[in-house]
Amino acid sequence: MGHASDRKLLKEFEALYPDPRSELNFSSDYQLIVSVILSAQCTDKKVNEVTPQLFSTYPSFEALSKAMLPKLEKSIRPINYYRSKAKNLLSMAKVVHEKHHDKLPRSRSELEELAGVGRKTASVILSQLGIEPALAVDTHVFRVARRLHLASSEKRDEVEQQLRERFPKEIWHHLHHWLIFHGRRVCKAQRPACEQCAVAVFCPSRQSSTIKKAS
Ligand code: SF4
Repeated sequence: MGHASDRKLLKEFEALYPDPRSELNFSSDYQLIVSVILSAQCTDKKVNEVTPQLFSTYPSFEALSKAMLPKLEKSIRPINYYRSKAKNLLSMAKVVHEKHHDKLPRSRSELEELAGVGRKTASVILSQLGIEPALAVDTHVFRVARRLHLASSEKRDEVEQQLRERFPKEIWHHLHHWLIFHGRRVCKAQRPACEQCAVAVFCPSRQSSTIKKAS
């Protein structure tokens, strides 16, 4: 581990968030990729509200590949960017159905060829399915890692690289979720709740006047 305090920070995260896993509801590779595509720029809660009906109407890659676009759009309408996401879902499902025989491909390059799947989405899938260690950097991971000075770059892919170099790959999956949980619950974009933050003592960005225990 790169820095002496990292071990203590991870222990604190482990105690805070002992069950670091996705808050999306899914029970198959198919449901995972659909949920992850829908979750871009949208809360997991909103995605979870839409997917039960969506998966009942379109239970497989094949069923989704045959969807009529207007009907598909309607069924994911509460989701941000539902029009472009509906197009991506349809295109992704067609490729998985026709080219991969209804099996989600298991390599990064093949995943990233699918519509709606960029590096971050592919990382989430690879990590979630235990195919290979990956560290997806979303908006929360990016913000919290930088505030905690675990990474310094202003570019997402460089933050990913810095985190990968700093932490052993066995911890990447958990670290991804810990930073997301912390970003959603405490270290929010607008007003981080530093006075309630259990890892404030490790954080150079804390608002120190409000932290009694720190220093
Ligand atoms: S102390 Fe504040 S800025 Fe630092 S991690 Fe906690 S909430 Fe975020």
